[in-house]
Amino acid sequence: MNIESHEHTALRAAVAALGHRHGRGYVREELWAEAAKLGYLGVNLPEEHGGGGGGMAELSIVLEELGAAGCPLLMMVVSPAICGTVIARFGTDGQKEQWLPGLADGTRTMAFGITEPDAGSNSHRITTTARRTEDGWILNGRKVFISGVDIADATLIVGRTEDARSGRLKPCLFIVPRDAPGFQRSQIDMELHAQEKQFELVLDDVRLPDDALVGDEDAGLLQLFAGLNPERIMTAAFAIGMGRYALAKAVGYAKTRQVWKDPIGAHQAIAHPLAQAHIELELARLMMQKAAALYDAGDDTGAGEAANMAKYAAGEACVRAVDQSVHTLGGNGLTREYGLASLITAARVAQIAPVSREMILNYVSHQSLGLPKSY
Ligand SMILES: Cc1cc2nc3c(=O)[nH]c(=O)nc-3n(C[C@H](O)[C@H](O)[C@H](O)COP(=O)(O)OP(=O)(O)OC[C@H]3O[C@@H](n4cnc5c(N)ncnc54)[C@H](O)[C@@H]3O)c2cc1C
Repeated sequence: MNIESHEHTALRAAVAALGHRHGRGYVREELWAEAAKLGYLGVNLPEEHGGGGGGMAELSIVLEELGAAGCPLLMMVVSPAICGTVIARFGTDGQKEQWLPGLADGTRTMAFGITEPDAGSNSHRITTTARRTEDGWILNGRKVFISGVDIADATLIVGRTEDARSGRLKPCLFIVPRDAPGFQRSQIDMELHAQEKQFELVLDDVRLPDDALVGDEDAGLLQLFAGLNPERIMTAAFAIGMGRYALAKAVGYAKTRQVWKDPIGAHQAIAHPLAQAHIELELARLMMQKAAALYDAGDDTGAGEAANMAKYAAGEACVRAVDQSVHTLGGNGLTREYGLASLITAARVAQIAPVSREMILNYVSHQSLGLPKSY
């Protein structure tokens, strides 16, 4: 029995078919364009701005199924999920008109930059600062590990402005075009086989117009949180998809590889860890579905806990599934031909970003269990 609606099941099947047509050797630009044309990339964005009028339930299905077919589109985590959500919920009418149709039809992409070299997991410590001028803003600061800046038309940068009354810095989101003068990027040399690259950014007196500020200067924190839940749900989808891809390869191999009288899959030392990986991926998906359902129903607080738990569960399940899959293939697990070894580093991303497993355990310790804080 399927707990998903008929529509969701049909969406899953259609996206899986698209993913399998492209396969592991996919060309990112081609898949991005085709998925967008079919309405999959903007499935969560409002209909009046060219989207599908759905939510995170649908968008996470799209990313999971593409990942399970071996062709995850990492930028889905940031472009339609974080940036699209923030602009749809909090942007001005002008920003919605300018960005949402393009994000929905795939002609425009937006990256997202919050992480800083000296702040890392502690985003309260970010120092990228926006100063008001007569006709806009001047941004200064540094960011690190920002994905896809080279292929994005703009980056949604989390900065801070000074509160006139309290003098305290408060978070604000700015749309920074890729070619804005003073917006410099340098690619980080990552040990990752991914089509999307990570960048260190320097914002050196980047001058922006008034309308670069998303929504309201006083609602920055609210906007930020609204974008972070979709990010976690989508990272869970990314991880579950990757885990399923690896597991399917390993199961296929274990059924046919024979070095004793039966295929290696008959040995419980091979079969049981694969069964465990399958169970853990299914459990992670259930939590992801709960998070998406809460988020789509407008329960941001309830979605916060579930999205964190889903991201945690999916990251752990993915790392274990990939590890066991590589092991199942023996020496072939480490060959380029079978393509699983590179997933070892790729899977780790889901434990580190966008929020590390420890920070989720901290969140659950404090928020869910009411335990005291050590930091
Ligand atoms: C492939 C990739 C893509 C990324 N893409 C983006 C992007 O597009 N945009 C963006 O803004 N960022 C992006 N990031 C950055 C990512 O979100 C950060 O790497 C992540 O938040 C962790 O920050 P950090 O690397 O500075 O680690 P740190 O904060 O330095 O943490 C290092 C270690 O210490 C642990 N730790 C820290 N504080 C505590 C604590 N209080 N209790 C227990 N343990 C603690 C952490 O769990 C971690 O294991 C990306 C990262 C990667 C690897």
